[in-house]
Amino acid sequence: MALTRQQQDELKHIMESRCLALADEIRAGASRARDESADTLASGHLDSGDAAVADQIVDLDNAELLRDVRELRELEAAQARLGAGSFGQCIDCQKEIGYPRLRAQPAAVRCVECQRTYESTHAHPATPKL
Ligand SMILES: [Zn+2]
Repeated sequence: MALTRQQQDELKHIMESRCLALADEIRAGASRARDESADTLASGHLDSGDAAVADQIVDLDNAELLRDVRELRELEAAQARLGAGSFGQCIDCQKEIGYPRLRAQPAAVRCVECQRTYESTHAHPATPKL
Protein backbone atom coordinates (compact mmCIF):
# COMPACT_ATOMS: atom_id res chain seq x y z
CA MET A 1 0.00 0.00 0.00
CA ALA A 2 1.48 3.31 -1.09
CA LEU A 3 -0.32 5.44 1.46
CA THR A 4 1.80 6.90 4.21
CA ARG A 5 1.01 6.16 7.84
CA GLN A 6 -0.27 9.71 8.19
CA GLN A 7 -2.56 9.39 5.17
CA GLN A 8 -3.94 6.12 6.50
CA ASP A 9 -4.62 7.72 9.87
CA GLU A 10 -6.33 10.63 8.19
CA LEU A 11 -8.56 8.36 6.09
CA LYS A 12 -9.35 6.29 9.15
CA HIS A 13 -10.43 9.42 10.96
CA ILE A 14 -12.54 10.63 8.00
CA MET A 15 -14.26 7.24 7.79
CA GLU A 16 -14.86 7.01 11.52
CA SER A 17 -16.55 10.40 11.74
CA ARG A 18 -18.54 9.70 8.57
CA CYS A 19 -19.72 6.38 10.06
CA LEU A 20 -20.82 8.09 13.26
CA ALA A 21 -22.73 10.75 11.29
CA LEU A 22 -24.38 8.09 9.13
CA ALA A 23 -25.35 6.00 12.16
CA ASP A 24 -27.00 9.10 13.65
CA GLU A 25 -28.86 9.83 10.40
CA ILE A 26 -30.03 6.24 10.14
CA ARG A 27 -31.26 6.22 13.73
CA ALA A 28 -33.07 9.56 13.23
CA GLY A 29 -34.49 8.49 9.88
CA ALA A 30 -35.75 5.18 11.22
CA SER A 31 -37.55 6.79 14.15
CA ARG A 32 -38.99 9.51 11.87
CA ALA A 33 -40.35 6.88 9.47
CA ARG A 34 -41.92 5.08 12.43
CA ASP A 35 -43.52 8.31 13.73
CA GLU A 36 -44.94 9.12 10.32
CA SER A 37 -46.56 5.73 9.87
CA ALA A 38 -47.91 5.96 13.42
CA ASP A 39 -49.41 9.42 12.67
CA THR A 40 -50.95 8.18 9.44
CA LEU A 41 -52.54 5.24 11.22
CA ALA A 42 -53.65 7.30 14.21
CA SER A 43 -55.37 10.07 12.22
CA GLY A 44 -57.42 7.49 10.31
CA HIS A 45 -59.29 10.00 8.14
CA LEU A 46 -56.90 10.79 5.31
CA ASP A 47 -58.37 11.33 1.90
CA SER A 48 -56.56 9.68 -1.01
CA GLY A 49 -54.51 12.82 -1.75
CA ASP A 50 -53.13 13.04 1.78
CA ALA A 51 -52.38 9.35 1.80
CA ALA A 52 -50.43 9.64 -1.46
CA VAL A 53 -48.38 12.52 -0.05
CA ALA A 54 -47.73 10.58 3.15
CA ASP A 55 -46.62 7.57 1.11
CA GLN A 56 -44.26 9.75 -0.90
CA ILE A 57 -42.69 11.15 2.25
CA VAL A 58 -42.17 7.69 3.68
CA ASP A 59 -40.74 6.44 0.36
CA LEU A 60 -38.37 9.38 0.19
CA ASP A 61 -37.21 8.73 3.75
CA ASN A 62 -36.71 5.08 2.99
CA ALA A 63 -34.67 5.87 -0.11
CA GLU A 64 -32.43 8.17 1.95
CA LEU A 65 -32.25 5.61 4.70
CA LEU A 66 -31.26 2.87 2.28
CA ARG A 67 -28.57 5.10 0.79
CA ASP A 68 -27.21 5.85 4.25
CA VAL A 69 -27.23 2.19 5.23
CA ARG A 70 -25.44 1.23 2.02
CA GLU A 71 -22.82 3.94 2.48
CA LEU A 72 -22.27 2.82 6.07
CA ARG A 73 -21.74 -0.78 4.92
CA GLU A 74 -19.30 0.38 2.23
CA LEU A 75 -17.37 2.42 4.77
CA GLU A 76 -17.23 -0.51 7.17
CA ALA A 77 -15.88 -2.67 4.36
CA ALA A 78 -13.32 0.03 3.54
CA GLN A 79 -12.24 0.16 7.19
CA ALA A 80 -11.80 -3.60 7.15
CA ARG A 81 -9.66 -3.31 4.00
CA LEU A 82 -7.59 -0.61 5.66
CA GLY A 83 -6.99 -2.93 8.60
CA ALA A 84 -6.15 -5.82 6.28
CA GLY A 85 -3.75 -3.74 4.16
CA SER A 86 -5.69 -4.14 0.91
CA PHE A 87 -7.16 -0.65 1.07
CA GLY A 88 -6.74 1.78 -1.80
CA GLN A 89 -6.29 -0.79 -4.54
CA CYS A 90 -8.55 -0.69 -7.59
CA ILE A 91 -10.59 -3.90 -7.82
CA ASP A 92 -10.51 -3.77 -11.62
CA CYS A 93 -6.96 -2.85 -12.63
CA GLN A 94 -5.23 -3.48 -9.26
CA LYS A 95 -3.48 -0.13 -9.46
CA GLU A 96 -3.44 2.25 -6.53
CA ILE A 97 -6.38 4.60 -6.16
CA GLY A 98 -5.09 8.16 -5.77
CA TYR A 99 -5.10 9.67 -2.30
CA PRO A 100 -7.21 12.73 -3.31
CA ARG A 101 -9.91 10.35 -4.57
CA LEU A 102 -9.76 8.28 -1.38
CA ARG A 103 -10.07 11.40 0.73
CA ALA A 104 -13.18 12.49 -1.15
CA GLN A 105 -14.54 8.96 -1.42
CA PRO A 106 -12.93 6.68 1.20
CA ALA A 107 -15.19 3.77 0.25
CA ALA A 108 -14.12 3.90 -3.41
CA VAL A 109 -13.15 0.49 -4.77
CA ARG A 110 -12.08 1.65 -8.21
CA CYS A 111 -9.62 4.20 -9.56
CA VAL A 112 -11.06 7.18 -11.46
CA GLU A 113 -10.50 5.58 -14.89
CA CYS A 114 -12.07 2.23 -13.99
CA GLN A 115 -14.97 3.94 -12.22
CA ARG A 116 -15.66 5.95 -15.36
CA THR A 117 -15.57 2.80 -17.48
CA TYR A 118 -17.75 0.98 -14.97
CA GLU A 119 -20.33 3.77 -14.92
CA SER A 120 -20.46 4.05 -18.69
CA THR A 121 -21.03 0.30 -19.03
CA HIS A 122 -23.21 -0.38 -15.94
CA ALA A 123 -24.87 2.76 -14.66
CA HIS A 124 -27.22 3.45 -17.57
CA PRO A 125 -28.11 0.09 -19.08
CA ALA A 126 -31.32 1.56 -20.51
CA THR A 127 -29.53 4.19 -22.60
CA PRO A 128 -29.97 3.19 -26.23
CA LYS A 129 -26.88 3.11 -28.39
CA LEU A 130 -27.29 4.55 -31.88
ZN1 LIG B 1 -8.50 0.87 -11.99
